[in-house]
Amino acid sequence: MTYVISEPCVDVKDKSCVEVCPVDCIHETDDDRMLYIDPDECIDCGACVDPCPVDAIYAAEDLPAEQQVYTEINSLYFKDRDAARRRVDDLRPRPRLPDNPVQADGSRAKAPAASGHSVGEAPVRR
Ligand code: SF4
Ligand code: SF4
Repeated sequence: MTYVISEPCVDVKDKSCVEVCPVDCIHETDDDRMLYIDPDECIDCGACVDPCPVDAIYAAEDLPAEQQVYTEINSLYFKDRDAARRRVDDLRPRPRLPDNPVQADGSRAKAPAASGHSVGEAPVRR
């Protein structure tokens, strides 16, 4: 068994869990959007669960159904970091900057509502 970090950690990363882990098996780099538990090093002590402010950490068998994919993702991170990062981005697309018109689905943002006449067209005088 192992403990697993799940989706609520994404883009939070306050690292309270790292400070309490007795075997230093919770890892990340600045390129990561979440932290990952090495399943080969975790000793199942549960010390990291309560300090997490967003309840992201579960024993693998207690993960909510919709979070079970993170067992595989935590494990994958220690074999292929880029692949794990891509899985996280697929599940939780990165937030877009407000001035970026391209939406998460790749489409363009809608233009503002028409103002009554086309751009470049002189208003009609009555
Ligand atoms: S369960 Fe214990 S050993 Fe495993 S990640 Fe949490 S604090 Fe570390
Ligand atoms: S304490 Fe929770 S939110 Fe913070 S880094 Fe650890 S798992 Fe992520």
